[in-house]
Amino acid sequence: MKHIDIREIIGNSYYVGKTVTVCGWVRTSRDSKNVAFLEINDGTSLKHLQVVIDKEKISDFDSAMKLGCSVKVSGEICENPNNGVEINACDITVLGESPADYPLQKKRHTLEFLRTMPHLRVRTNTFNAVFRVRSVLASAIHEYFQSRGYVYVNTPIITGSDAEGAGEVFRVTTQPYDHGFKTEEEYYANDFFGKKAGLSVSGQLEGEVAAMAFGKIYTFGPSFRAENSNTPRHLAEFWHIEPEVAFAELPDIIEIAEDMIKTIIYKVIERCPDELAFFEKHFEPGLTDKLKSIISHNFEVLDYTKAIEILKSADRKFNYPCDWGCDLQTEHERYITEEVFNKPVFVINYPKDIKAFYMKQNPDGKTVAATDLLVPGVGEIIGCSEREADYDKLVEAMKQRGMNFDDYKDYLDLRKFGSVPHSGFGLGFERILMYITGMSNIRDIALYPRTVGSVR
Ligand code: ATP
Ligand code: MN
Repeated sequence: MKHIDIREIIGNSYYVGKTVTVCGWVRTSRDSKNVAFLEINDGTSLKHLQVVIDKEKISDFDSAMKLGCSVKVSGEICENPNNGVEINACDITVLGESPADYPLQKKRHTLEFLRTMPHLRVRTNTFNAVFRVRSVLASAIHEYFQSRGYVYVNTPIITGSDAEGAGEVFRVTTQPYDHGFKTEEEYYANDFFGKKAGLSVSGQLEGEVAAMAFGKIYTFGPSFRAENSNTPRHLAEFWHIEPEVAFAELPDIIEIAEDMIKTIIYKVIERCPDELAFFEKHFEPGLTDKLKSIISHNFEVLDYTKAIEILKSADRKFNYPCDWGCDLQTEHERYITEEVFNKPVFVINYPKDIKAFYMKQNPDGKTVAATDLLVPGVGEIIGCSEREADYDKLVEAMKQRGMNFDDYKDYLDLRKFGSVPHSGFGLGFERILMYITGMSNIRDIALYPRTVGSVR
């Protein structure tokens, strides 16, 4: 169907005086004495194109006035004092009608209401803006790593190792529910892979395998977690960016993470000005200044032990304890990043007992070389660490956790054959999108959000 994208026409005086064909969905319609107006949107831009219908020239336009219908319009592009340009219709074809029960009528709907119709909410300005930023950000992330020589690897989505993220793994099975097996072992032995399998919670372990060959790698794909927590920041299926870098220690990977976050935010500021102005107006006043401030200031680096001191001396009551050795809860994270520093904060050197087995043990015997990046409004967006590169120390940490060594043969081999200091992190794609857009619920960042008790 020959037509021109609305984004090409809007704000481009080249088309003024030319006759073009555009397509789109009707977003608003208004009828007055001699003329009628439509605003149409084809999804290529946040802005709509105004269609002017001269009733003397076009009489049969009633069904084009219905919100949500799709139209093809030919006509001349003219200047419009308010809106840049508009199209004077000489022909309108309704491609698909939209009866009066179209749910997105003129009034502004709440995000909660829109969540009940994921297939239609994408046609609103909010979701147009969210998904354009999402797409631009994905591209910026690939550009960042590609232009610096990282290899993009696709780690497996189905995994056979079961201990990481224990309890949060979705099982993958082809067994019928009425299998009649006597034991769990028998059940798994007869299953598709001949053993227990699940959906990957992280590509890190395989990412390390690739980094030990290609030096610098990143993954960008879905991770799955059976998070039984109903929060505005957790999805059961989310997209995960996981770089893994050989010959890098904790300070090196922190530098990479900060540089990457700043670079990709800069790209969004540059490429999505309309969308950011929209979020600023409707969701987070001050958003643009916030984003500009992020790219022009250093992130804070704060020792976990110091964070605990700050929390203990805060003149405020927390619901959860914050003694040395406790995991930081959302209320603690938000206090530190929002009220104390008001900028992104890397909390480093966590107690080893609350962190994963693979994190490098510090010489103090109590902490590991790990960091979470906390940001105002969202909390944790990155989990990061230097990995334990010493065979014996890794084995010791696994024994303490009662882990099954058979599942980690490959992983241990990496420490046996040419082990090197290496580090990596996991960035939650939807989490950083929340931070960049100011959207406060992760369900409004994913096309079809999956959460406990809800899949569509
Ligand atoms: P949280 O404490 O917020 O549950 P986590 O410590 O479990 O996060 P990691 O295992 O370190 O997270 O995962 C790396 C990153 O992946 C997190 O910093 C976050 O950005 C993202 N992430 C983790 N779990 C989820 C989830 N359920 N939904 C969306 N993003 C997630
Ligand atoms: Mn989690």
